[in-house]
Amino acid sequence: MRSKIVAGNWKMNKNLSETKGLLGEISDKLPDTEAEVIVAPTFVNLAESAHILESSKIKVAAQNMHYAKNGAFTGEISADMLLNINVDTVIIGHSERRAYFGETDELLAKKVKAALENKIRVIFCFGEELEERKSGNHFNVVESQLKNGLFELPADAWEQIILAYEPVWAIGTGETASPEQAQEMHAFIRKTITEAYDASIANEVSILYGGSVKPSNAGEIFSKPDVDGGLIGGAALVADDFIAIVKAI
Ligand code: PEP
Repeated sequence: MRSKIVAGNWKMNKNLSETKGLLGEISDKLPDTEAEVIVAPTFVNLAESAHILESSKIKVAAQNMHYAKNGAFTGEISADMLLNINVDTVIIGHSERRAYFGETDELLAKKVKAALENKIRVIFCFGEELEERKSGNHFNVVESQLKNGLFELPADAWEQIILAYEPVWAIGTGETASPEQAQEMHAFIRKTITEAYDASIANEVSILYGGSVKPSNAGEIFSKPDVDGGLIGGAALVADDFIAIVKAI
C-alpha cells in the first residue's frame, strides 16, 4: 500500500558502538509521524539494531541479500538469516552494488524474487548515470532497469515492493535532482508500471527519491505528488539531519 517512507541507508558506516549511539539519538528525537521510518545499518550490526528497535516504530532493513537459500556463498547473507533476526525489508539494486560489485539486472531480478518468496519486502533501487541523463537517455535506462528487475513479477508481488529512484549522479555528490526532475521521473515510472501492469498497481506503489536529500531540500522534493519519501544516504548518519528529513515529510 502506498505510504510515506523515509529510509536511511547507512552503507559501510558506523561500528557497533556508533550504531547504538545513532539509534538511541534517532529514537529519542523521532517525532510523532504517519511516515514509516526505516534504518539500514551494516550487516554485522543488524541483529543488535533489530533487537534495540524491537518495540520501536523504527524499522530495520538490510542493505543486500543473496538469492540462494543457503550454501557455499562465502560472505553472503540469506533471506532466512534476515528473517531469523526479525528483519523483513531489504534494499536491492543500490547503484553502489551495481557499480562496484557488478550486480546485473539479471542477478537483481533473482534477488527480488527470492526476497519476495520469503515475504521480505524489497526497496528496489534504480536510476540513470550522468552521461545517460546528459544524452537524454534517462527514461529508457530507467524503463529497462524496471523491466529487467521487476516486470516478470506477478501483480500481487507489488504489494511487497517499494521503489527508490536514485539518479546515480546525485548520490553522495551533493548534487540533487530538482524537485521537478524527480517528479517528472516518478510520474514516468508510474506510467511505465501502468503500461506493464495497470494503474492501480502504479498508483499504489510507494516511490522514494534518493540522491543528496538533506534537511534543506527534503520538503520541496517530498511535496511533489508522485514522490512518497526518500532513501537517504549521508544525511541519515547525522541524527538531527535525519530527523529533520523525517519532519519534512
Ligand atoms: C543513497 O546512497 O541511497 C543515497 C541517496 O545517498 P546520499 O543521500 O548520500 O546521496
